Amino acid sequence: MEKAQEQTITVGNYTRTIKERPITFRCEWCSGVSTEMRLPGPTPRYHAECKQEAQNSIAKARMKRMRERQSQT
Ligand SMILES: [Zn+2]
Repeated sequence: MEKAQEQTITVGNYTRTIKERPITFRCEWCSGVSTEMRLPGPTPRYHAECKQEAQNSIAKARMKRMRERQSQT
């Protein structure tokens, strides 16, 4: 069971505490719907365990495209 985490943000001499809350989202990598404890902000696009894989795949695809473009010219 994950515990809610608190994060303190200090801006100048102003301190703000934000709390994690459960956010339900669909993972774009495995299409699975999941609820995770997240800090308020943009809705996550991937599971924590899918994110690395998705980013690797995106980086690889981008490299491949770049290489193809370079070989064309
Ligand atoms: Zn996933």
